Amino acid sequence: MKMITFLLVGLIVHVIFFVSIFDIYFTSPLVHGMTPQTTPLAPPASRLVLVVADGLRADSLFTPLPDGSSRAPYLRNVMEERGAWGVSHTRVPTESRPGHVALIAGFYEDVSAVAKGWKENPVEFDSVFNESRHTWCWGSPDILPMFAKGASGDHVYTHTYPAAEEDFASTDASRLDSWVFTQVKSFFQSAKSNSSLRASLLEDQNILFLHLLGIDTNGHAHRPMSKEYLDNIGLVDTGVADLVSMVEDFFDHDGRTAYVFTSDHGMTNWGSHGAGHPSETLTPLVAWGAGVKNAQKVTAAQPYNDGFLQDWKLQHLQRVDVNQ
Ligand SMILES: [Zn+2]
Repeated sequence: MKMITFLLVGLIVHVIFFVSIFDIYFTSPLVHGMTPQTTPLAPPASRLVLVVADGLRADSLFTPLPDGSSRAPYLRNVMEERGAWGVSHTRVPTESRPGHVALIAGFYEDVSAVAKGWKENPVEFDSVFNESRHTWCWGSPDILPMFAKGASGDHVYTHTYPAAEEDFASTDASRLDSWVFTQVKSFFQSAKSNSSLRASLLEDQNILFLHLLGIDTNGHAHRPMSKEYLDNIGLVDTGVADLVSMVEDFFDHDGRTAYVFTSDHGMTNWGSHGAGHPSETLTPLVAWGAGVKNAQKVTAAQPYNDGFLQDWKLQHLQRVDVNQ
């Protein structure tokens, strides 16, 4: 009899523990069923080009080379002449998924996906992609689908390389980024002769999103001080320069495109991320184009002087930090 009671109590305790995971582990901070609001102010931009260089550390982009030049001369020029720059501070866990959700949906997806698995969206959420008229995205099959899945209607178009073919970049991960830039180039080429695509692109409230996984992959394989990681930054910089001139040509230099370049998380010196070391939580932010002020020179002390400005040789340019 004692034995049966013991087993019964044991069973009940296990059932309670099992059920409790689903019941108390996570409560979503999101509120559903609200009426969408719009601002009466006219937007300064008709479209946004968002570039996320996955796994790019702030210092890897901002620190000049020993000879004083930059490994990302295009973005450096934007920061010095016609854009705004700062550090985007990420939260722990410094992983790709929560980073992109913070950037694109605007909240920290602090969830445990015990019931659905990580491939699914643990909670339904709204995003800037869903609120756009059209969003075209290119990049990794690990990142893009969650934003298409969360979108109502058919206006978020994803272009990913098949997950199995991520191997095509196994010898040189920067090819993941070349793939994206090439796809975007042929997309704009085809838009010249495809009148319905062209008409969609000429509408307002559009987004183009480029997810570049090469730097992250090179960082994991070779560490952030490696030639592979650093050269990949140069490749991305050239790709962004070409992208901007292509976009500006397509829209006839109408001055209505806003550009944001950032990263989802950084990386430690030994090629990992997930925790809260500054090498993981400090990511670069560079914004320019429609609605963004030109670079502001500062003479007084910077509001965000954490000791990095001297290393980055950026004391003279106003720094605007954000929480990712
Ligand atoms: Zn990432």
